[in-house]
Amino acid sequence: MLHFTCDLCGQQLGDRRYVVKLEVYPAFDPEEIEEEDLDADHLQEVSEIIQEMETTGCRKDDDDDSGPKEFRFDLCPDCQHRYARDPLSRDAMRRLNFSNN
Ligand SMILES: [Zn+2]
Repeated sequence: MLHFTCDLCGQQLGDRRYVVKLEVYPAFDPEEIEEEDLDADHLQEVSEIIQEMETTGCRKDDDDDSGPKEFRFDLCPDCQHRYARDPLSRDAMRRLNFSNN
């Protein structure tokens, strides 16, 4: 028999197990956008963006970010409840912003 543990708090999960499935994918056609970026009008813009990314260290090493991603998590009832209330951790981000001020 398979034993699951909560991906958030690590406790053993019994029958009341919750599964979170996340799918992230571009809602546009990445090929199309790239072709547009190659237009002369955009070249300057693109090189500026690349330069900025290099100086800020936010440069992407590969194209992985544009591909679809799937995540799957097992959660206990408590964590599921907390997760469902704030799936994007917006509360946590807000708190972080406040502490930075
Ligand atoms: Zn949990």
